[in-house]
Amino acid sequence: MAREFQKKFMHPTRKKLVDMVLTGGEYEKNTQISFAGADKEKIKRQVGERWTDDKGRSWEQHAAGKIEVSELGDIMAETRAYLDKLNTCKSDNCKTIKIGRVDKKLISKTGYCLHCLTIRESQIKVDGLWEAYEDYKIYSNMIAYGKDVISQFTQAYNDAKQTYEVVQEDGKIENWSMERDVNELKAEILADITRFEEEIKQAKKLRDEAWDKLKDKDYDLVKPPVD
Ligand SMILES: [Zn+2]
Repeated sequence: MAREFQKKFMHPTRKKLVDMVLTGGEYEKNTQISFAGADKEKIKRQVGERWTDDKGRSWEQHAAGKIEVSELGDIMAETRAYLDKLNTCKSDNCKTIKIGRVDKKLISKTGYCLHCLTIRESQIKVDGLWEAYEDYKIYSNMIAYGKDVISQFTQAYNDAKQTYEVVQEDGKIENWSMERDVNELKAEILADITRFEEEIKQAKKLRDEAWDKLKDKDYDLVKPPVD
C-alpha cells in the first residue's frame, strides 16, 4: 500500500471511504467531487454541513463558525463502529453481557451469540426440523464452494496455453512450453467442470427440498436460497 495519500480526492461520500479502508479497494476516480469551498463567492452554509476546500481541508459549519474536521478521523470512527458490529449479537433481547471468543466466532458466522443462537436452534429442534435445517446449511455451503471451484477451473481453462512467455529477472523473455498437450488438458478441465456442475445441480435439488420444509417458519437463522 505504497500508494500516495491523495487527500483532495477523498472528500465526497464517506461510505465510499470506509469501503476503501475496509476492502483496500481503489477509490473510484470518476466519483463526483464537489469543491464548493473553492468558489471565491461566499457560500451560506447550514449548521452541520461539511465540505472540503480547495486545499483539501475539511470543515464543518457550527452556529459559531466553521471548525476543521478530519475525514480520516471519521473513517476511523466508522471503521470502529463496523468492527464493533461484528462483535455484537443482533438479537434485540440479548442478555449476554460479556462476549467471549466463542460468541465472537458465532456472531461472525450467524449474527448471534451462543446463548441467542441456542435459543433459536432449540426452537427448530422443537419444531422437528433440525434435519432439514442441517441439510439446508450443508447443501448451501456445498453449492457456494462448488461455484467457487468452477470459477477457478474456468479460469484455468481460459488461461491454459501450450507455451508461456516468462519474463526473466534480467528482462529477457523466455518461452516455456508445457509438456502435456494443452488440448488434452483443457478437455480434462472441461470434464471436471461438467462433473462439478452436475453435483451442484444435485445439491441444489436437496437444498430446495430442505428449504421447502423450512420456509413457512420464517426462522431468523435461515435465509432464502440465493439462486
Ligand atoms: Zn445474544
